[in-house]
Amino acid sequence: MPKVWVLGAGQLGAMLQQAAYPLALKVVPLEPEQETLPDIASEDIVTVEREQWPDTPLTQHLAKQPGFINADIFGRIADRLYQKTMLDELGINTAPWQQVTADSSAEALHNVLGEDVLLKRRTGGYDGKGQFWLYQDQGDEIPSDWLDAAIAEKKIPFKEELSLVAARDANGQKVFYPLTLNLHSNGILMASISPLERVKHLQGQAETMLSTIMDATNYIGVMAMECFRVGDELIVNELAPRVHNSGHWTQAGACVSQFEMHLRAVSDLPIKSPEVRGHSVMINVIGVERDIHWLSIPSTQCYWYGKDVRPGRKLGHININHPQRHAVQTALSKLKPYLPENYLAVFDWVQDELAKS
Ligand code: AMP
Repeated sequence: MPKVWVLGAGQLGAMLQQAAYPLALKVVPLEPEQETLPDIASEDIVTVEREQWPDTPLTQHLAKQPGFINADIFGRIADRLYQKTMLDELGINTAPWQQVTADSSAEALHNVLGEDVLLKRRTGGYDGKGQFWLYQDQGDEIPSDWLDAAIAEKKIPFKEELSLVAARDANGQKVFYPLTLNLHSNGILMASISPLERVKHLQGQAETMLSTIMDATNYIGVMAMECFRVGDELIVNELAPRVHNSGHWTQAGACVSQFEMHLRAVSDLPIKSPEVRGHSVMINVIGVERDIHWLSIPSTQCYWYGKDVRPGRKLGHININHPQRHAVQTALSKLKPYLPENYLAVFDWVQDELAKS
């Protein structure tokens, strides 16, 4: 079996490694800054688990490998200017936008995009970082270091945020997980729920959009599409050409997780439509010390990434899965006392959504 080298050695690389075991694949996560260059065989595969990577001896070495899957796509999608241009060219609904050039002005942006405009850095932004709101009624100006380095988006008055995780293999076959409902706070994903009966009618629309994107880019592997929902219309917020946080629930809730599906697709093993088990909720652990009580909560899987605790940092996640919805609700009630106060709103949101579904 060829080895799968992963550019990026964070939690996503570690979870790919975990998912490789039943496939007897050897997955080797790599730090972009590492000095030793690995000996990569011509039949080996190179994939990526991060949004961006610096230009280092290792990344230059990886770029030369014939087995670097989607090599030409990553750089393009990582630049919001190219990503938005591509979505427009493909006729995919996305938030109206403008390029922020050296001579852009807040006034000109407001004229086209309305009173509230969100600046997003072309590259490097994630988890709500790299965003800057321009409010017309506050007379905000574009900060000088955002000129020529950002796009500007119209504020979307969305009802909720949904994402679709899919995989495509080298023959163009595609498989999809059910839509996931996501709660963000300050741009960071806090919780996901899937599947949800009440959004089922949007699945076809989402699949058509993501199929168009994956086919147009001849993409191989897992890709996530984050959307805003306005009425019954989906508007793409952004694309993630990799395994994605909103797909972590698939570890507990699907017969093949997004991590295993990605590995199958990139290493030319069969992919299949994932059968989904019961009801799943994923709670992200953000900036919170680990609490061993989480391990005793029924119907949960706990992932702790082993990183230093810092405010706003993704440190782990807890998947809750059960065939019966009420058992998921009970597990959530048991978990609630072991997370800090800022999670109360998250638990309320999840319980509310489960009760509605
Ligand atoms: P992003 O970094 O693009 O994923 O954005 C992080 C979060 O900011 C999203 O999940 C939304 O909650 C919010 N956001 C991003 N773009 C917009 C927009 N055009 N209008 C309103 N909210 C937005």
